Amino acid sequence: MSTHTLIELFEQHPSAPLAPFIEGIEGLSSYTYDQAWSLAGQMAHTLRAHRVASGDRVAVQVAKSSEAIIAYLACLRIGAILVPLNPGATESELEYLLGDAEPVLVIADPLLAAAAIDRPMLMLDAHGCGSLMDDAATRPVASPAFLPTAETIAAMVYTSGTTGRPKGAVVTHRNLTSNALVLAREWGFVPADRLLHMLPMFHVHGLFVATNCTIAGGGSMVLAPRFDVDVVLREMPRCTVMMGVPTFYTRLLADARFGRATCANARVIISGSAPLLAATHRQFEQRTGQVILERYGMSETSMLTSNPLHGERKPGTVGPALPGVSVRVVDPTTGAPLGAGGIGDIEVAGPNVFSGYWKRPDLNDTEFTADGFFRTGDVGTFDADGYLSIVGREKDLIISGGLNVYPKEIEEALDAQPGVAASAVVGVPDADFGEAVVAVVVAAPGAVIDTGALRDALRQVLAAYKVPKRIHLVTELPHNAMGKVEKAKLRSTYSLPS
Ligand code: AMP
Repeated sequence: MSTHTLIELFEQHPSAPLAPFIEGIEGLSSYTYDQAWSLAGQMAHTLRAHRVASGDRVAVQVAKSSEAIIAYLACLRIGAILVPLNPGATESELEYLLGDAEPVLVIADPLLAAAAIDRPMLMLDAHGCGSLMDDAATRPVASPAFLPTAETIAAMVYTSGTTGRPKGAVVTHRNLTSNALVLAREWGFVPADRLLHMLPMFHVHGLFVATNCTIAGGGSMVLAPRFDVDVVLREMPRCTVMMGVPTFYTRLLADARFGRATCANARVIISGSAPLLAATHRQFEQRTGQVILERYGMSETSMLTSNPLHGERKPGTVGPALPGVSVRVVDPTTGAPLGAGGIGDIEVAGPNVFSGYWKRPDLNDTEFTADGFFRTGDVGTFDADGYLSIVGREKDLIISGGLNVYPKEIEEALDAQPGVAASAVVGVPDADFGEAVVAVVVAAPGAVIDTGALRDALRQVLAAYKVPKRIHLVTELPHNAMGKVEKAKLRSTYSLPS
């Protein structure tokens, strides 16, 4: 049977109706597939009763809960466009996002509902209670009739905003369904799978990759409100899959209790959303016997590449392009595709790629090539086996004295030095060089770093123009909710000569 929409994906899930879909822990509720679909039908009636028509936006700014996932299904059932928003958004950010998305309705957490929300609201709190649920309880379980097509817009996701002002990536049923099917197949999802879900729900990783793969495979999610090492130690032994950001894995490795026993039942442990250090990859394998599977994606394109389930998973790479997805690395000046070893801009085309940014048709010409590839803004290189490595964001590339410096290369050299726990390298304005290379370094617990000695050590392994002009020691790097280092913040902090 063909599957082009998320409604079909859910209706065709290969599991019994009474099989668990969400197993809530730490105060979250549990739902079977049948219960989730019925509640989604009830919520769909509630949305309709609150004047939400197909094509209207429904913004959701709530704490993570099982019911928040079901609200996503409810939007799909009436063709409303889900706009997931970070519960940590500030009042001014929220004002901008709501002004841009123009939602007909906001599903909000009563504790978060900022004064900035002057639109119709329904409440959903961290325990899955509130006016949304109260109203839904009075409605019939059979959803109002709505049949999406592959081109129906399913959601609008504001890009994480580590660079520039957030823009709404408009994603269709085809984008999400094609990606869910290919990932579930490539990663071998089956009804017996139980995925430990500790990711936020306002980002593609937790909302689409984890949830849609689970649905496609017919397994269940053990849903926790947030990442917590103690909860992983307790819950992971009964789970077969974990999806996380690199910070999860470094935090687990920092706890001596974490080891083989925790992962005894794991089938695959997946990392994405930010670069996983090759050193973390190796350390994780030594400690647990599990080889982390790293993949690469973004809000605009869902997943593009993945290391294989069967076959070699190479540390420091994000694997080959997924089946049906075309990924190329091109010369930034000429746009000509580069062969293995060439470093250039990563571009992608395929059924997973969104059609454009909300209200920004002006960006279509700059963000897409004439032959229909999306410019990811990431810089990377393929090896001879077709495995992609990401070198950094185009915007993070440093041009110092006319020479290109790729931050990742310097960060790897720094991380390899004794006493360095983490590092980030940025370019800051410099009268002499145009941009100067600046490093921000976190020392390992108990280690004392002499920045002069560290620079001397780097001179042994890096060409002079790559060696940071300044090294700043900090106790922690600024990370956003998905574990990405906020380089824009570092650039502005360290722009002034220290
Ligand atoms: P977002 O749209 O918030 O998911 O951010 C997407 C960006 O995260 C990509 O364009 C990459 O820069 C980065 N990213 C995602 N996965 C990886 C990965 N496995 N390694 C390195 N960077 C990644």
